[in-house]
Amino acid sequence: MKFNTKLIHGGVSIDEATGAVSIPIHMASTFKQKHIGSSKYEYSRSGNPTREAVEKLIADLEDGDAGFAFASGSAAISTIFSLFSNGDHIIVGNDVYGGTFRLIDNVLKRMGMTFTTVDTRDLEAVSAAIQANTTAIYLETPTNPLLRITDIAAIAKIAQQHNLLSIVDNTFATPYIQKPIALGIDIVVHSASKYLGGHSDLIAGLAVTKNAELSEKLGYLQNAIGAILAPQESWLLQRGIKTLSLRMQRHQQNAQTIFEYLNQQPLVANIYFPGNPDNSDFSLAKQQMAGFGAMISFELQPGIDPEKFVENLKLITLAESLGALESLIEIPAKMTHGAIPRDIRLANGIQDELIRLSVGVEDIDDLITDLDQSFKQLKS
Ligand SMILES: *Cc1c(COP(=O)(O)O)cnc(C)c1O
Repeated sequence: MKFNTKLIHGGVSIDEATGAVSIPIHMASTFKQKHIGSSKYEYSRSGNPTREAVEKLIADLEDGDAGFAFASGSAAISTIFSLFSNGDHIIVGNDVYGGTFRLIDNVLKRMGMTFTTVDTRDLEAVSAAIQANTTAIYLETPTNPLLRITDIAAIAKIAQQHNLLSIVDNTFATPYIQKPIALGIDIVVHSASKYLGGHSDLIAGLAVTKNAELSEKLGYLQNAIGAILAPQESWLLQRGIKTLSLRMQRHQQNAQTIFEYLNQQPLVANIYFPGNPDNSDFSLAKQQMAGFGAMISFELQPGIDPEKFVENLKLITLAESLGALESLIEIPAKMTHGAIPRDIRLANGIQDELIRLSVGVEDIDDLITDLDQSFKQLKS
């Protein structure tokens, strides 16, 4: 099956018991056992048919061995990091999600894991960071909020050579744009609260493993830690995923037009967008990704107040999060990345003035009109 067909017919698309074309929401916490130990489902933390449907679906979409659904992206990431132990060293991209940074800095370090943050675009720096106790490489591409692109296949190769686990947070791209497991990565993780859910009405996380050995390990931890996705949310998520291609097409079309508009706008200084030919990552983005996504970050000319710009918007909503039907805009330094100490943030290139825009699926003319009226107010 090709990707668009998998979205509709992958996983468990039809209920075997009734023929229903929308899978049932199984709220049961426990299941009757005909003979002890013979049942497919026993207890809903360990296995639930509705959750299993979305888990099989994401495994199909990411071309992996098995999928796992969690109560949030953060729960998925925490469970993956539970694969590691006191004394393990992990290489982490230097531009990862703020919550991942918080988990590493305030929780995992306390538990005895050590981390080296590296710009994973620099393959030599990645290799140089490997120590005798290094167990994994963890990264995002495109990154948040600077949309930097790492060569996934090259990282997978380094990881394989040194017997390290490789993990990619694929939230910004989704499997519509890139499939890290096909490029040699071991585990893919998603905040499904973003593009996969797609409608700003759900917090969820997904992980996909490359082989049966990893599936068993992560499945064990999912059950042991218990941060599972509930049946209602599992249903909502698989429903959202079905329209991923349709949404991504419009998201990307709108993003391309907005990029071109911003590129002509004299008040805009820098634009961070994988599809920006002036970005150093452009050719890699073009080769690695089946599209440039719909996240655009930009800086205004020095001295122009970015807060005024985002607050003057009428249609584009000032809010955290991304990957939603509605266009969302925010200032990372004050909002999503506020938890990162300012010196570290600046060292990673995230200026106080940076604006991040998640381009939605509205009519493009209305989005441009909104940006235009806000720019005009800055000039007057
Ligand atoms: C939002 C996000 C997360 C965290 O996911 P939650 O569902 O909010 O817990 C992790 N990684 C990335 C890239 C994100 O954007």
